[in-house]
Amino acid sequence: MTATGERRDPAYGVPTDNRQSAPITAVQTESRMPAEEELFASRQMLQLVLDCIPQRVFWKDRSSRYLGCSRLCARDAGLADPAEIVGKDDFDLPWKALADAYRVDDRQVMSDNKPKINFEESILYPDGSRRWIRTSKVPLHDRQGRVIGIMGTYEDITDQKRSEEQLRQSLAELERSNRDLERFAYVASHDLQEPLRMVSSYLQLLARRYLDKLDKDADAFIGYAVDGATRMQRLIEDLLAYARAGTRGNPFLPVNCNLIVARNLKSLGPLIDETGAVVTYDDLPTVMADEYQLAQVFQNLIINGIKFRTNQPPKVHVRADFDDDAKEWRFAVRDNGIGIALEYHRRIFDMFQRLHNREKYPGTGIGLAISERIVSRHGGRIWVESIPGDGSIFYFTIPDRRHAQ
Ligand code: ADP
Repeated sequence: MTATGERRDPAYGVPTDNRQSAPITAVQTESRMPAEEELFASRQMLQLVLDCIPQRVFWKDRSSRYLGCSRLCARDAGLADPAEIVGKDDFDLPWKALADAYRVDDRQVMSDNKPKINFEESILYPDGSRRWIRTSKVPLHDRQGRVIGIMGTYEDITDQKRSEEQLRQSLAELERSNRDLERFAYVASHDLQEPLRMVSSYLQLLARRYLDKLDKDADAFIGYAVDGATRMQRLIEDLLAYARAGTRGNPFLPVNCNLIVARNLKSLGPLIDETGAVVTYDDLPTVMADEYQLAQVFQNLIINGIKFRTNQPPKVHVRADFDDDAKEWRFAVRDNGIGIALEYHRRIFDMFQRLHNREKYPGTGIGLAISERIVSRHGGRIWVESIPGDGSIFYFTIPDRRHAQ
């Protein structure tokens, strides 16, 4: 008897005459079979079940000799019939190089009288192929509850391991190429700044010195060139800011958002005066953030709120709410501007995506991409809700890190 009082077949350690056991009662006939017949039928049923499942199953005696196995396990061992494994041990089988280790495992399971579940190992077969398997072993008991061997199951997880390895390699490759790309964007935009500054300042010199001294066409050409160089400079500055947002961040420290928005409004003073904008904000929280980067996000959103205005004076309002479930602050920058059609709500966060021509609304199309990068570096999200003609609300979240600590 086992601790639970059920009877077990000594060779298998599986229930024999416990009538609640499903596989065995299934083969009982109306008139009682002789005990030997019944045992035979049970064994046959057990073997059938084991042969039908993808898991390999085997069972061994106390000295790690095989007492039986499922058909797939026999096939792994190079045997045509499961019966051929009886009496063999791991030294007789293709995985003999691991036989000592298997014996140690078997002994441990038997002496601890405890299962050993889901351990993974790789096996080198004599044909040179290597396979990964995941194994579990449990102790087998006789009627008195004494340990008489072990039963094990294993499955071939080589394909899964290969996929995991491929995924790991692809991720490492992706990370490396992202790093390369960022370094390239940084170096290119940084190093381009100097020659461009030179082109731009000489063009401005030309414009100052020769405007009205040459003919009308020449004046126009110089004007175009100055304009192009200025635009390129702005583009390169934004590209550099984009590259920096991913890699050159400062550590997160407590940042009082009231202070950074107030500072932004001060530096935007000329734009606010020129457009007659009214920018207001509620009491804002202190969050753990990279102060310089967070100020950039507020600044981009406030400038856009003023820039994409209708013929009404622009109104921009900044507020923040705490989401108690997500434990994050949700900031909202609302404007009364031209709004954005639904199909562009996602696309505007991609690089260089602009919905209007430069003459009407100047810009590089990088501001929102930088903002998204910064917000995601902080573990948050950014999105817009807007109806054309009815203004926009840009939302972004910053996790409450102080809460988490
Ligand atoms: P930029 O402002 O330099 O064009 P952004 O990346 O900041 O680049 O914005 C991308 C595009 O999203 C803008 O060109 C504009 O079409 C749209 N957009 C951004 N903010 C607003 C807003 N507040 N109202 C309407 N459209 C906006």
